[in-house]
Amino acid sequence: MRPLNVVVLGATGSIGQQTLDVIDRNPGRFKLFGLTEGARVSNRQAEHVVHGQAGDPDFDHQVDAMISDPRCDLVVVAIPGARALAPTMTALRAGKDVALATKEVLVMAGSLVMKAAGERGIRPIDSEHSAIWQCLWGEERKNVRRLILTASGGPFWAHPELDLDQVTVEQALNHPRWSMGPKVTVDSATLMNKGLELIEAHHLFGVPLEAIAVCIHPQSVVHSLVEFVDGSLKAQLGRPDMRLPIAVALAYPDRLPDAVPRTPVEELSGLEFHPLDEARFPSVRLARQAASAGGGHPAVLNAANEEAVNAFLARELPFSAIIPTVQRALGAFPGGGSSLEEILEADRWARGYVRDPSGSVRTP
Ligand code: MG
Repeated sequence: MRPLNVVVLGATGSIGQQTLDVIDRNPGRFKLFGLTEGARVSNRQAEHVVHGQAGDPDFDHQVDAMISDPRCDLVVVAIPGARALAPTMTALRAGKDVALATKEVLVMAGSLVMKAAGERGIRPIDSEHSAIWQCLWGEERKNVRRLILTASGGPFWAHPELDLDQVTVEQALNHPRWSMGPKVTVDSATLMNKGLELIEAHHLFGVPLEAIAVCIHPQSVVHSLVEFVDGSLKAQLGRPDMRLPIAVALAYPDRLPDAVPRTPVEELSGLEFHPLDEARFPSVRLARQAASAGGGHPAVLNAANEEAVNAFLARELPFSAIIPTVQRALGAFPGGGSSLEEILEADRWARGYVRDPSGSVRTP
């Protein structure tokens, strides 16, 4: 059997780099067929190497050609943020398998994306969703009672004494368990990452919002759980290492030998699970409301959050103003968002709401 031709969109980011690592370590199985690179350049050899940013017409044109190439088998989407939506739709419409690391794609347009994916579905590269996906293999959907997403809690959950008004960028970027890009690290600190993941899980697995729960699990060893109608719980466990969900998504339905170092079960003592404090971290509730309102609301949640996080990282907005900013945007959103174009319009509207035309952040 010839190696699977893999395209990696967003090869220089954290997930992109780890995907290249998985491909390199399994040369008989995978071939790097194409990649896109943003600001940084890796000097990687592939049939197609595209430089630039999604949204630039020349870049988009080259990416479309690369994805639509009949030799391309699998597309790994790891471009950060809303810009990953268009190439994901292109890949799905071209009938390619898609391994998706960019949760924003499903948050913004989950119904349209899953419809385009059809029976083939989407292979998740998000540790929680990979865990749930693995727990659901061989199971019938009618037997699922609920999904339980685990959250590490981020750097502030274990410190209720900390005044979130005073949190610095450095403190927010100091995640206790996972090494990730700055945007998702701040989202972990506000718990908005879990709100986005709740919407992501709702679309990926077709489970109602009210049947998806979140619990705090500081050790990040249990990556998520599925509860079945008979009372049984299934979980997927392992050390926090994104190369595992990447390997699972690439090799499905097979498994790659030694994709990550083994986890001796004796090391897993002291696993804790705690309820989510929604008063201190209202982001999950906000995400649930946005998803339930539907249309462009989840896109507004996502875009307003992205702008607010960027403003925090640029030291223009305090940490504690991130979620209230998102909440205000959702409250002001005039509605609409049934088509892809309207969803992108909702995204633009939310960004314009958070940042005035001069580019400065509207303070609460
Ligand atoms: Mg995750």
